[in-house]
Amino acid sequence: MKTADIIIVGAGPAGLFTAIQCIDKSVLVLEKNESPGKKLLISGTGRCNITNDCKLSDFYEHYGANYRFLKTALNCFTNYDLIAFFEQNGLETNVDKNGKVFPATQKSRDVLQVLVDKCKQNKVEISYNQNVMSIEKAAGRFILKTDLAAFSSRFLVIATGGMSYPLTGSTGDGYHFAKQLGHSIHPPKPSLSPVFVKDYLMASISGVSVQDKMIYLYRDEKKISEHRGDIGFTHKGLSGPGILDFSRQILSGDVLKMNLIDIKPDNFRNEILLSSTKEGKTTLQTYLKKYELPRSLLLLVLQAIAVEPEIRMAEITKIERNKLVAALCEFPFIIEKVGGFNMAMVTAGGVKLNEVNPKTMESRLVTGLYFAGEVLDIDGDTGGYNLQAAFSMGFLAGKVISGTEDGQQMYPNSNTV
Ligand SMILES: Cc1cc2nc3c(=O)[nH]c(=O)nc-3n(C[C@H](O)[C@H](O)[C@H](O)COP(=O)(O)OP(=O)(O)OC[C@H]3O[C@@H](n4cnc5c(N)ncnc54)[C@H](O)[C@@H]3O)c2cc1C
Repeated sequence: MKTADIIIVGAGPAGLFTAIQCIDKSVLVLEKNESPGKKLLISGTGRCNITNDCKLSDFYEHYGANYRFLKTALNCFTNYDLIAFFEQNGLETNVDKNGKVFPATQKSRDVLQVLVDKCKQNKVEISYNQNVMSIEKAAGRFILKTDLAAFSSRFLVIATGGMSYPLTGSTGDGYHFAKQLGHSIHPPKPSLSPVFVKDYLMASISGVSVQDKMIYLYRDEKKISEHRGDIGFTHKGLSGPGILDFSRQILSGDVLKMNLIDIKPDNFRNEILLSSTKEGKTTLQTYLKKYELPRSLLLLVLQAIAVEPEIRMAEITKIERNKLVAALCEFPFIIEKVGGFNMAMVTAGGVKLNEVNPKTMESRLVTGLYFAGEVLDIDGDTGGYNLQAAFSMGFLAGKVISGTEDGQQMYPNSNTV
């Protein structure tokens, strides 16, 4: 049986970053794939949005209700620490207009290369094609079995990711291991996923998007939530950051109402009325140009409510006015379903957070057992928040394990690093 001080299961960003921090101890990373970071490579459509340029205090609102769990990790290793880490290791970064931070080369492969090089430099061993099947703890050591061999270690880090994009290797194995070791799991659910719309009218404008629009979520005819963001129309429904970030709240049968022109319904109604006298000869489609909607989308919406684009403002009837207000200020989409794990960017749910110490990432149930990354019940919005969380959790877990001697933690749980 091969032994190491620390075994990390999973060579994704969380596992690799944990490994990099563990100096002065032997570290073995077990990865089921033939290569590391498959999901990292497809992140940000291959450009890898590693973090966000916003203030640290603004980070928290991007992790839903469980954000408190991440406070220590994010304070110990901030977005600026992450940017500095990559820059010190020769990878410059750029920030886009939305605050998303990317490698200057725009290549996720370069991000992965830095992590792998750093592992090599720190003498971390990564063993590929090792599909961990079972984990148990006996006589103070963790015993892991893969389909090829058995391993034992004093510390164990589960960094196996969630269940989304299973072809990348994240197939929910970490939940089974956590259960085997006595942990409970908050049921996993796809998150950051596009939605499919019933009787969808927009298939012909697939690829068109609108920026910074307000969306209201209705369940059983009651408004229960709202969100603002960029929205893309797909072949079968809606996507884009505004929908992906909202998707963790959406259920089949819900109705999304989108304000396409960013003006309150009553104000828009009054505007149309005023224009019928002031700009009576102007056609409706010319009048609506000021709202800067893509023309193809506007024509589809008008077709859906059977109002002629060429109608003059003075000719609009009360019924047509009402239809225009409803369609442009509250266009309804009935949700058939939210995309599954094969199209969700992250997994909501996972190892329950009250069983893990957020100041160390160590299990509260099993000494020496640590968790990092998406396997835990925390998920973030689009914009670099998920990778930052994986790196910060990996950093904290690695530093704590590195500083642990004879059961005493030597690592200060503050932002002094
Ligand atoms: C299409 C897409 C785009 C994304 N874009 C971004 C982005 O731009 N910015 C951002 O912040 N986030 C993005 N994300 C999310 C981000 O990639 C993940 O949150 C992040 O990779 C999670 O890191 P992790 O290390 O926890 O898990 P993972 O990256 O899933 O890594 C887990 C690793 O564990 C291995 N493993 C699993 N089970 C076993 C086992 N039994 N034995 C051995 N090894 C095992 C897997 O093979 C995998 O290599 C994106 C996700 C997707 C799917």
